[in-house]
Amino acid sequence: MDMSQAILSNRLADNEIADNFTDIAPPLTNKQVLVASERCLFCYDAPCIKACPTAIDIPLFIRKISTDNAHGAAKEILSANILGGSCARVCPTETLCEQACVRNTCEAAPVNISGLQRYAVDNLDPGRGYPFNRAPATGKSVAVVGAGPASLACAHRLARDGHQVVIYEASSKCGGLNEYGIAQYKLVDDYAQQEVEFVLKIGGITIQYDTALGRDISLPELQQAHDAVFIGIGLSNNNALNIPGEDHPQVQQAVHYIKALRQSDNLAELPVARRIVVIGGGMTAIDIAVQSKKLGAEQVSLVYRRDRKAMGASAHEQALALSQGVELLFNAQPETIISDDKGLSAITFQRTACDENGKLLSTGQTFSIACDRVFKAIGQHLDKTPLTALSNQAQPPRLDNDGRIVVDEKFQTSINGVFAGGDCIKGKDLVVEAVNHGNRAALAIDQLLKKNRLRKR
Ligand code: SF4
Repeated sequence: MDMSQAILSNRLADNEIADNFTDIAPPLTNKQVLVASERCLFCYDAPCIKACPTAIDIPLFIRKISTDNAHGAAKEILSANILGGSCARVCPTETLCEQACVRNTCEAAPVNISGLQRYAVDNLDPGRGYPFNRAPATGKSVAVVGAGPASLACAHRLARDGHQVVIYEASSKCGGLNEYGIAQYKLVDDYAQQEVEFVLKIGGITIQYDTALGRDISLPELQQAHDAVFIGIGLSNNNALNIPGEDHPQVQQAVHYIKALRQSDNLAELPVARRIVVIGGGMTAIDIAVQSKKLGAEQVSLVYRRDRKAMGASAHEQALALSQGVELLFNAQPETIISDDKGLSAITFQRTACDENGKLLSTGQTFSIACDRVFKAIGQHLDKTPLTALSNQAQPPRLDNDGRIVVDEKFQTSINGVFAGGDCIKGKDLVVEAVNHGNRAALAIDQLLKKNRLRKR
């Protein structure tokens, strides 16, 4: 990231920054746990389970908590979702289980499922041993490409089933989005790495770091060396605004800054612009806007091209941004970024409207916002080159119209024995959904490998 021309805001004191980046949703107290667990009605056919992509048995784990069995509750959660600890911290539960909770009415809040889930996982008793055992070795090996949530979930399941797993990770750390892409205040104390260590304790998983598909190893080589392949490479190409002025160094991808922030040993050393404009309407837009405020930016405006209801970020996330002093502007599309030899000076927008079919129209009205830095948070797309690189005869897995990998109901791609999951396939791009993909792909891979073994007998 080019930081050379950053126009710095008045620096906050180190202790102010440290305070701003403490846990945004601290653990529940014992009393809060008691109150929250007593509110659960232990519904038959519980809607909260159906709303959870990993189908955690929520009433069952809450009942275990209420009978003073947090360890058992954690086992229940982790057997459905091995990343249940980070999901408790980063899931938009207000649009998933807690939205579906029967306690969620105009007059009352839903059961605090995320808080209870975090309590349970945080209270897994390490003195009682690792909660999962490996099945006897099958002699089969699976390549898992990438080490984000989908890949980790897939690897853990396969290792439990007795298969040998090799994770090929392009960077020097596992964790993917949880390590590099989620706001710091949601996953404090290096939680992503603590969770990776927990996942790997199952055994049978080795990791080849700094090994990228298409750069260091090809898909045909992986197919040759392993009995099956799982691709969880996420989306690494960032979308562009395609407007004049975009190539200025102070116009940056939000994901790059968030990554630098997450890997920083000293947040006080990060360059912070005085006046920031964020373009986008999803979680990444909120994450960069809120973190910029927490680092000391004086003015942060988040501008989205459609209306508030169409935003990808939930009402809860929008409220968080407003509470931190972020200005939210709707129905405006960026037009030109203006700079001079001193740096960025402003960005101009066209006001937009939607026709009855939801098509975005320009109204012809314009306005501008003075700024020193622009963050783009308008989504990412799949880099398909790694799927064919280093191989002159390989056919890549089939892609859909959005450029994502097509999979069937078993998460198998158009290539036999090659599976995929996480953000590189069509979906909601949530950590919990990626875990669901990894779980289900692992089940299908296990069935395939067992079937192949029987055939060989
Ligand atoms: Fe408990 Fe709410 Fe789930 Fe019912 S819907 S089981 S009250 S958490």
